[in-house]
Amino acid sequence: MRPLRKGPGRVEADPRGIDRVLGSSPSSPGLLRQLAEETRALFESLDRDIEALTQAVCPSCQDVCCISRHGRAAADDLVYMNALAIQAPLGESKRPDHAACHHLGPSGCRLPRYQRPYRCTWYFCSPLLEAMGEMKPRQARALEARLARLSSLRTRMMEVYGALDTGS
Ligand code: SF4
Ligand code: SF4
Repeated sequence: MRPLRKGPGRVEADPRGIDRVLGSSPSSPGLLRQLAEETRALFESLDRDIEALTQAVCPSCQDVCCISRHGRAAADDLVYMNALAIQAPLGESKRPDHAACHHLGPSGCRLPRYQRPYRCTWYFCSPLLEAMGEMKPRQARALEARLARLSSLRTRMMEVYGALDTGS
């Protein structure tokens, strides 16, 4: 099996063969690519609001959620990233699950949001939710709507991928 595009360091190969099903970016099916492009744009548009929240609460966190296990791409991340030929974060093969994520730097995550696993954007711990509750209602509603759209795009991408994988 051809390994997925590799980043710096020793990374795991894509164990699911998603790259084999999708092939490289130019031949990725149009609908999947369209959904992936909208997903990437949404990640980019969400970044400023979410960064404002994380900057307010994460520096004082005693139980940081950026552990190795959370920084590895899941199947739906691989579908999205392969459709756009984005280098996927597969994780370092020998790093323990609960060690600090190797993408975590002194100022937070080193990856652009569109290149992080989906869970890194989707997960809101209690302090983050509380900080979100202090946003202006209109701004909070807009954020919720974009997160909901992100979720529905993921579901749709996996449906499209599932149809390709089974050849239907
Ligand atoms: S998102 Fe929540 S759990 Fe994760 S580091 Fe920030 S405050 Fe801690
Ligand atoms: S946000 Fe970045 S540093 Fe944190 S778990 Fe995700 S990939 Fe790792």
